[in-house]
Amino acid sequence: MRAYIGLGGNLKQPQQHVLDAQREIASLAGVKALAFSRLYRSAPMGPKDQPDYINAVMAIETPLTPLELLDRLQAIETAHGRVRQGERWGPRTLDLDLLVYGDKEIQSERLTVPHPGIALRRFVLMPLHDVEPHLKIPGLGSLESLLAACPLDGLAVILDVEGG
Ligand code: ATP
Ligand code: MG
Ligand code: MG
Repeated sequence: MRAYIGLGGNLKQPQQHVLDAQREIASLAGVKALAFSRLYRSAPMGPKDQPDYINAVMAIETPLTPLELLDRLQAIETAHGRVRQGERWGPRTLDLDLLVYGDKEIQSERLTVPHPGIALRRFVLMPLHDVEPHLKIPGLGSLESLLAACPLDGLAVILDVEGG
């Protein structure tokens, strides 16, 4: 199954955490990395008294189920020292979100796919566009139409990552 993962972080060298996480996801058993987006810098959502975020997206091919994938992504978050605290959208070393999983729409206790934030987050739509400009997002329509409707906000390309 083709899946898209959003990577983000804003503490302790977030760029390094995001790049390391890309490699760690790519080397998971049963995961084949297909494409990496550029890296972006974005202003924080929610609490403003925290550093800017680094954001990226990767496309993978995997036979893992969505929950198996979520387990592995959360294990990587934990290995990067992510501490889950009370505050929603608070600062974190690494956030790995399952954005899209094939054409599946999932609503369970642990997983909502496509990720519910996609349509309103330019910092997700832009890197998604890097890896698959013609992506159709189940239940939401084309990536192009979502980008056209998404408010412009402070988002900058900071790095072109070469190859895979
Ligand atoms: P947001 O989901 O709005 O980006 P967040 O990434 O900061 O916020 P987390 O603290 O990383 O939220 O995750 C909270 C819970 O969200 C996780 O424990 C996970 O079970 C659940 N979750 C639901 N859908 C998804 C998804 N598509 N990808 C990752 N986690 C998800
Ligand atoms: Mg998130
Ligand atoms: Mg998350």
